[in-house]
Amino acid sequence: MTMPTTDVKIDELSNEVASTKQLVVQKFGGSSVSDAEGIKRVAQRVVDAQKAGNEVVVVVSAMGDTTDELLDLAAQVTDSAPAREMDMLLSAGERISMALLAMAINKFGASAQSFTGSQAGMITDGIHGKARIIDVDPHRIRTALDKGHIAIVAGFQGMSRTTHEITTLGRGGSDTTAVALAAALEADVCEIYTDVDGIYTADPRVVSTAQKIDRISSEEMLELAASGAKILHLRCVEYARRFGVPLHVRSSFSQKEGTWVIPGAEEKFTIEEGVALEQPIISGVAHDRSEAKVTVVGVPDIPGKAAAIFQVIADAHSNIDMIVQNVSTHGTGRTDISFTLPIVEGADALTALRAAEGKIGFESIEYNENVGKLSLIGAGMRSHPGVSATFFKALSDAGINIDMISTSEIRISVVTSADALDDAVRAIHAAFELDGDSEATVYGGTGR
Ligand code: ASP
Ligand code: MG
Repeated sequence: MTMPTTDVKIDELSNEVASTKQLVVQKFGGSSVSDAEGIKRVAQRVVDAQKAGNEVVVVVSAMGDTTDELLDLAAQVTDSAPAREMDMLLSAGERISMALLAMAINKFGASAQSFTGSQAGMITDGIHGKARIIDVDPHRIRTALDKGHIAIVAGFQGMSRTTHEITTLGRGGSDTTAVALAAALEADVCEIYTDVDGIYTADPRVVSTAQKIDRISSEEMLELAASGAKILHLRCVEYARRFGVPLHVRSSFSQKEGTWVIPGAEEKFTIEEGVALEQPIISGVAHDRSEAKVTVVGVPDIPGKAAAIFQVIADAHSNIDMIVQNVSTHGTGRTDISFTLPIVEGADALTALRAAEGKIGFESIEYNENVGKLSLIGAGMRSHPGVSATFFKALSDAGINIDMISTSEIRISVVTSADALDDAVRAIHAAFELDGDSEATVYGGTGR
């Protein structure tokens, strides 16, 4: 039986419509919406995206340094803010920008509605300050889009299904909100708008000649984010990789094409003719000042002691990064174990360790916040000998003393003193010939 021709035509037509209409999730960071001007500029951009025929969902961060200012304010009121109230306070920052952006968009003649994280269906666990997203139910967002609205969602926040409390996702968490929504709505792309033109070979605030990267694999981006590159939230990259969401990191201040973070880019690159050959060995240098170094001195060198120490730290909900154990001091049967953890988790971890001092039997604890971590990242390192030699020679030529070293297949990290960190980053960036000819543009933000 032949199909009536009209049906076929309608079918083709709807296919065409379906393929041109894209669902775009756009996330704007704090520096893009730092004042009324910024909010209007972003509103115009969002309206343009809708006019171009897209369905648009926008995720916003708090304006400028609002989150830091709220933290400062809380610290002036108390040194022991209940975690629940801290989340109530911090989640307010994003509510301000979402409402103002919706107003600006409506003023430009398009229609927008703003939603808090819980209204947008961001369901998290109940851990205040670093909640994890466990489910996303964006039916209200879907309905808003179906009615032709632009949906604005407050980033960085959600609600626990068990405690019914408002939670926040941890600093920089709006990126993760955006990707989680993009995945749940099956968006075609998640655009992360920031104050630089994309992901650079180093932080352009430290290395002015850093170069923009056009494409990066999510594997390398994960290492960069885990190593302290603040351009993308670590969990956002993990989430994007897991759900296959293409990420486009770009500036809200320019129209330039930014950096594409491509899930499974390695496979794609190798089948694309010639591209694999051009893959650089090194993708970039990341640095991090947010960690402290803890040394547990005089730990009895017998089985079970490291396990006991790290159990105590885990019970204090601390995220350990680098770990180094020295050979035991001759004849004493004791050793030192050092590790790094986020400064914000330092106090709790120390309290927990001290409480276990008698049980574990170590001699003392040293704690140092005046350290920095530098990491060199590149998938090409796997197959290229000599990378470590170049790396350590560059640090030695620059007169930089190394505290700790750790490596993975595609990363070398060292801990130095905080003061030496910027020089170390510039030395490594230059040694691997990552310096470009022109200066990177930083459009806004205080880098705070
Ligand atoms: N406003 C929050 C912060 O400053 C979340 C974000 O910007 O992504 O960390
Ligand atoms: Mg951010």
